[in-house]
Amino acid sequence: MKLTTEQFRESLLKAAAQIEAHKDELTDLDREIGDGDHGINMSRGFQAVQKELEAHGEYEDLGDLSKQVGMTLIKTVGGASGPLYGTAFVKFAGAFKGKKEVEGQELAQAFVEATEGIKMRGKSEFGQKTMVDIWTPFHEALSKEADLNAALEQALRDTKERVATKGRASYFGDATVGVQDPGSLSSALLLQEIVEVLHG
Ligand code: ADP
Ligand code: MG
Ligand code: MG
Repeated sequence: MKLTTEQFRESLLKAAAQIEAHKDELTDLDREIGDGDHGINMSRGFQAVQKELEAHGEYEDLGDLSKQVGMTLIKTVGGASGPLYGTAFVKFAGAFKGKKEVEGQELAQAFVEATEGIKMRGKSEFGQKTMVDIWTPFHEALSKEADLNAALEQALRDTKERVATKGRASYFGDATVGVQDPGSLSSALLLQEIVEVLHG
C-alpha cells in the first residue's frame, strides 16, 4: 500500500469533511465524559487545515504537507487534543521528510512514530481510553498488513468499553464505560479517510 503526497492531501480534506459532519456527536460525547468541546476544537482545527490545503494546492512532498498540518493543528485546535494531533503530524513530517510517496513498512513506521509522539506528549499509554487506543491497533494492523478498517472498528468497540484513566474523562471514572471516547472517534474518522486513499 502506497501513500502519495496528493493522496495524503486528499485524505485530510475528506477527514475535515467527516469531522465537520460529526462535530455535534464529538461534542456530545465530550459533554458526557469531558468538558463538551471536542467537536468544536476539532472543527476549528480541521476547517483551518482545509482552508490551507485548498489555498496551497500541490505540496512538494509528504514532509512539507505534514509539517504545515501539524503547525496548523497546534495553533488552532487547543485543549488536550491540539498538541496531541499536532505532535502526530510533526512526527509524520520527520518520518516523511523529502519523500513524495511511502509504502510498506516505511509507511507503518511513520504511524508508529506518530503514535509514540502522542504517547510521549500525553504521558499516556495504550488501554487508558484515549486516542492512543485507536492509533496503536492501527499501526499494528498496518505493520502486519491486516485489514485496516476491521482494526479500526474493533478498536472503537474495545475503547468504548474501557474505563478512562487519563485526561479529563478519568474524573468520570466508571461512568465512562460504554461511552465512546471523543478523541478516539475523531482519530478513527481521520484514519478511516487515510485507509480510503490507501485502498485507492
Ligand atoms: P480537552 O480534554 O482539553 O477539552 P479535547 O476535548 O479536545 O481536549 O480532547 C479530548 C480527547 O483528547 C480525549 O477524548 C482523548 O482521546 C484525548 N486525550 C486527552 N488527554 C490525553 C492524553 N494524556 N493522552 C492521549 N490522549 C489524550
Ligand atoms: Mg474537551
Ligand atoms: Mg477543553
